[in-house]
Amino acid sequence: MHDYERIKIGVSACLVGHEVRYDGGHKRDAYISNTLSQYFDFVPLCPEVSVGLGIPRPTIHLVRQAGDIRALEVKNASIDHTGKLERYIDGVIPQLEQVCGYILKKNSPSCGMERVKVYHPERPNLPPERDGMGIFARKLQARFPLLPMEEEGRLCDPILRENFIGRVFVYHRWRELEASGLTPAALVDFHSGHKYLLMAHDQENAQELGQMIARVGKSADLRQLAEDYIRLLMETLSKRVSRGQHANVLQHLMGYLKAQLDAGDREELLDTIHQYRKGYVPLIVPVTLLKHHFRRHPQPYIERQYYMAPHPGELMLRNQL
Ligand code: SF4
Repeated sequence: MHDYERIKIGVSACLVGHEVRYDGGHKRDAYISNTLSQYFDFVPLCPEVSVGLGIPRPTIHLVRQAGDIRALEVKNASIDHTGKLERYIDGVIPQLEQVCGYILKKNSPSCGMERVKVYHPERPNLPPERDGMGIFARKLQARFPLLPMEEEGRLCDPILRENFIGRVFVYHRWRELEASGLTPAALVDFHSGHKYLLMAHDQENAQELGQMIARVGKSADLRQLAEDYIRLLMETLSKRVSRGQHANVLQHLMGYLKAQLDAGDREELLDTIHQYRKGYVPLIVPVTLLKHHFRRHPQPYIERQYYMAPHPGELMLRNQL
């Protein structure tokens, strides 16, 4: 239904086996290195080594100081690496502009995306708060707010994993659209292919996005409209999709086969969707049955829907949803 080309994604270098940790070790992640590497080209970066902290190096941690969060050396709090780590991003902008997603190392004071330990010097006896974000990750998000970002630990959750990879593919298509030249027709076409994917994530947002697209021909400022559109679209896609939301979309899609299916096929499809809604079978089961019927009764509009094949089937992401 759709072809998939290899997409570049950024990754914390230690996760793909680079020996760049403070102790000279790595944190190679098998899923990233063995499975995702078959579909993505990695751009590995290690902020701490790149700013000259060396291997091995003194450990750093996040400390709350005067309303800010700083990256200080654990054994010598007078050495502050925050500025260097923040400025690092400026030097790697050309590499980051090519990536359509980023996988970050959890818990790292540089790369961690969320729940990184933050120490409080005035309360040395209390445990650290788990509400920090690594210095590099914070800058990355600020500089590229639309970029799909995820941590390797969270990729163990099938829903978060599918969500992240799905967003990477959508963002990649958006970047290609921009590169080939933003036109009203291209924007309408882009939205049309993503309609059911958006509907699964959030019906109200999907409607709002549809209304934006309806203004495409009338808007004086296409660039501004496109910016507002992609911001809301990426925000929508980051929302979790429940079984009920998927089931509603599947029933909508089934509506396109109303005239073609006999009573037995209809009942079987409805029953399969019901079984999915109840959690007895994974999403891949009703989707495969729908695809089977659409192969026999082609519908050009449905063939263009990325909902039917949002990422390569071999990744088996829908087998665990
Ligand atoms: S977590 Fe980030 S800074 Fe730390 S070793 Fe890995 S890539 Fe380098």
